[in-house]
Amino acid sequence: MIEQEEKRKRGRPRKNPIEKVDQTTPPVKRGRGRPRKSESAVALTAAGDSKNKKSAQDLEYKPVNAWDNPVFTKNNIMAFSENYKIFMNKAKTEREFIKESVALAKQYKFINIDESGDKKLKPGDKVYRVLKDKLMLLAVIGKKPAEEGTRIVGAHVDSPRIDIKQNPLYESTDMVFFKTHYYGGIKKYQWLAIPLALHGLIVKADGTTVEVNIGEDENDPVFTITDLLPHLAKEQYEKKLNEAFQGEHMNVLLGSEPIEDKDAKERFKKNILNLLNEKYGIVEEDLISSELQVVPAFKARDIGIDRSMVGAYGHDDRVCAYTALMAALETENPEYTAICYLTDKEEIGSVGNTGAESRALENFIAELCFRTTDGQYNDLLVRMSLDRSKMLSADVNAAVDPNYEGTHDKMNAGYLGKGIAIMKYSGSRGKAGASDASAEYLGEIRRLFNENSIPWHITELGAVDKGGGGTIAMMIANLGVDVIDVGVPLLSMHAPYEVASKADIFAAYQGYRVFFGK
Ligand code: MN
Ligand code: MN
Repeated sequence: MIEQEEKRKRGRPRKNPIEKVDQTTPPVKRGRGRPRKSESAVALTAAGDSKNKKSAQDLEYKPVNAWDNPVFTKNNIMAFSENYKIFMNKAKTEREFIKESVALAKQYKFINIDESGDKKLKPGDKVYRVLKDKLMLLAVIGKKPAEEGTRIVGAHVDSPRIDIKQNPLYESTDMVFFKTHYYGGIKKYQWLAIPLALHGLIVKADGTTVEVNIGEDENDPVFTITDLLPHLAKEQYEKKLNEAFQGEHMNVLLGSEPIEDKDAKERFKKNILNLLNEKYGIVEEDLISSELQVVPAFKARDIGIDRSMVGAYGHDDRVCAYTALMAALETENPEYTAICYLTDKEEIGSVGNTGAESRALENFIAELCFRTTDGQYNDLLVRMSLDRSKMLSADVNAAVDPNYEGTHDKMNAGYLGKGIAIMKYSGSRGKAGASDASAEYLGEIRRLFNENSIPWHITELGAVDKGGGGTIAMMIANLGVDVIDVGVPLLSMHAPYEVASKADIFAAYQGYRVFFGK
C-alpha cells in the first residue's frame, strides 16, 4: 500500500487519466498507474536495503511546472485559452460576465430554476439561478441526495475598476469630466494615461434602462484619466506613493467641444449632455440612477514570444470564474451535486445581496433540497447539506515576481506556471481574518489532484507581515462547509492588465473538473 501511494507522487509520468481534454468530450479515465513491480519482488527486498531507498525525487516536495505535466498537451492548453480570451473580451463587468454565462449555460442545456415552476429535479438535471443580474449559481444534480452534501466551486466575477459617481458631470477649463470613485484595491497611478472604456447601465426617470458600452469597438472613442507630465512632477515625485495620486483627482476626460451658442453657460458640458441625450435619451438626473464603470479598453491577448501567457483586464477573478463555469457546464451525472457559485462584490468585502456574505448559496441549496425530495422537505436538510458540503474557493493568487524580491516566502509562494495554487489560509498579521482549512481537507484535495495528475503547489499570499488578503472562503466556511482556496497565480494582480499562464488556467479548469467528479 505504501509503495503504491509513493508511486503516485507528482513528477512521475503516469498513464494519462485525462486523455481527452477538449471542452466537449469528458476525459477517458484509464488505469491508475504504470505497471509496478510484482508484489513478490517488493516483498523480497529487505528493509534498509539500498535498492529500497527512496530517490530524492520521491522524498522531497518539489512542484513541477505545469508545462511539463505529462497529461496536458500543448494543444489543449492553448485551445482552452483561446476561448477564455474571447469570453473575457465580452465580460468586463460582473453584469456582462453573468450575461455571457447564462448564454453558455443555455447552450449546455441548463434550465433557469426560477422559470421551471415547482418541477422536481432528478440526478443529472442541470439548473441555474441568477440574482440581480450580478450573481449566478449553477448546479448539476448528483446521484446522492443534496443533504449528503454538495461540491461547490465558488469564484467572484467583479474586478477592481473605476466607478462613475452618481452626480458626475462637470466642466473645467473648456473640458468636461466624469467624477469617479474607484472600486476595490487599486494602485491609482496604474489607471492614469491609459485607454478606458465605459460600461454599465442607466435607469431613466420612467424606470426603463439603457445599456452603455463605449470603447470596446475599434471605431468607438475611448476615455482616459490624465497624468502629470514628468517635467512638472518635481513635487509629486517627493510625495509618498499613496499621497501622490488622489482618488478625488481621478476624473475621466469626456470632451472638449462647446455648443455653438457662445453666450451659453457651461457650453462644453451642455454639448456632452446633448450627445448623451441623442444617443441614450437621457438627461443629467438619469445619471444619478446609473451604474457606470470605467474599465481598461484593452483586449485580452497572448503575452510572450512563446504565447504562453494571457494578458487581460480582470483575471482576478474571472480566470477562476470562467474555469469553474466551464468545469460545471461539462459535468455530467456527478456523485454529489456540483455547484458553481459566481459572486459579486468580493473586491469590496463580499457585502450586499449579491456578495458571498448574502444568503444566496443557502437559499439555492434549500431550493435544491426542496426540489429533490418528495414532500419531505424541512430546514434540517439544508443544514445537513451545508455541514457535509465541500468547496474550492476559486480565487487568484500572487505569483512570485522576480522584479520584486522579498515580498514572498519562496518556499510557500505562488509561481507562474506551477499549476493550481493551493492556499490553506489567507489573512494577515498572524493569520487574522483567515479561513484556515483543516489538514484533513487539504490532504483530501492534494490526494485528489495527485491522483488525477493536476499540477498544484502550496502557497501563502506573500511573506509574513508584508500585507495579506482574503477571499470568499471564510463566508462559506462560516456555514459549516469545508473550504480551501485553490486558484490561478497572477502577476500584476489588480493592475489594469494582469498576467496569467495558460498552463495554470488549464490546470485550474482540470482541477475544478475532477473536484466536481468530471
Ligand atoms: Mn479575487
Ligand atoms: Mn482581488
